[in-house]
Amino acid sequence: MRIRSPALVALIALAFVRSLSAQTVADRYRGDANRIIDAALRDSAAWNRLAEMTETFGNRLSGTPALEQAIDWVIGRMKQDGLQNVRGERVMVPVWVRGEESAEMVRPRAQNLPMLGLGGSIATPPEGITADVLVVGSFSDLTAKATHASGKIVLFDVPFTNYGETVQYRARGAVAAAKVGAVAALVRSVTPYSQRTPHTGAMSYDSSVRRIPAAAITVEDAELIHRLVDRGERVRVKLMMSSKTLPDAPSRNVMGEIVGSEKPDEVVVFGGHIDSWDVGRGAMDDGGGVVVAWEAVRLLKRLGFTPKRTIRVVGWTNEENGGRGGQAYRDAHRAEVDRHVLAIESDGGVFKPQGFSFTGSDAALDMLKQMASLLDRIDAGTIVKGGAGADIGPIVALGVPGLGLTVDGTKYFWYHHTEADTVDKLDPNDMARCVATMAVMAYLAADMAETLPRASTETR
Ligand SMILES: [Zn+2]
Repeated sequence: MRIRSPALVALIALAFVRSLSAQTVADRYRGDANRIIDAALRDSAAWNRLAEMTETFGNRLSGTPALEQAIDWVIGRMKQDGLQNVRGERVMVPVWVRGEESAEMVRPRAQNLPMLGLGGSIATPPEGITADVLVVGSFSDLTAKATHASGKIVLFDVPFTNYGETVQYRARGAVAAAKVGAVAALVRSVTPYSQRTPHTGAMSYDSSVRRIPAAAITVEDAELIHRLVDRGERVRVKLMMSSKTLPDAPSRNVMGEIVGSEKPDEVVVFGGHIDSWDVGRGAMDDGGGVVVAWEAVRLLKRLGFTPKRTIRVVGWTNEENGGRGGQAYRDAHRAEVDRHVLAIESDGGVFKPQGFSFTGSDAALDMLKQMASLLDRIDAGTIVKGGAGADIGPIVALGVPGLGLTVDGTKYFWYHHTEADTVDKLDPNDMARCVATMAVMAYLAADMAETLPRASTETR
């Protein structure tokens, strides 16, 4: 067939060029991505380094010497690794100290209740608080039973649906209970699965509502108390907490770089948070997030990849009980936020990776999907819309495209914020895949000719 119309010829040529350029990023980088993936899957360096860090320093709550010692260790090791511009950037962080604590059912029979005070909670009086328990299944159930709440310990026995929904009771339960006259709040631990392990986490007060102590008990004991009450028993609990909030203390966001060869001022930033709760060893949440980004950078260096833009790996501080690290990063780097081409965070555990969640423009999403197709061979190429991460949130809000590593999250909330968050819960091969996934995306974004289109410029 001969085509006579020049307009039609031009249209066909344009479509052809478009389909070519639609393939370009993935095609251009397929060889590099395969080298990165192959090399990452050959070793267990990430797991080993996470084990060393978390077993040397233990858990790392903001304001503790352990956190600062871990940061010093990261700085030393990053320098040994040959990263550039290795440094800690000062951040003032809140300091909450758990102290001695316990909970005991004293009626209808004596039984110890494994518990963890919620981060930020006030203490009980030294003799503790002993009171009858009012069990509720939701905030609206509390409202319905409000006239019975005065002088009671309110127990929120709310089964896990998803984290975002169920965590509301941990975060806001104390305020809701205090509003109706309760003297303390207990929450069923936020988890879909339990071996009688309590889960801590942050809670907050409202300046207009009286502060009452708040703690988590196990799923098993929340259900036990609920059933006892349903059988008509009067259940009484003694809660003792000696937690304290001290003045803010200095901590640091820790970081190192591979400086870009052509556009060193443009930055791909990625990492996780170096702080943790004060239980377990903060391996899954979120030592693993810091280590996979760090290992990704080490891997790129070892393979001799120097991208055109700078890749910066960051361990943000104080994600758990303040979010000050992410805010301080934004403030310290405000002048270069426009030159941050992409931010990637890993804070959902470093289990088998699936891809990323994304916050940014649809045009950037299309490009990221092409890039991520290079990860299909390890089933980590899925990009879904919505969500990136708490630590990159402040710069994503200023228009930086943001990715959050997504993983098989089946077991994440089993161990989250518990004594069981230890490195043995993670698999070296899964972690190696996370390294590959982070390295491929960071490298492409740092090296490709294109820049991810920003939401702010699109909507203008
Ligand atoms: Zn975390």
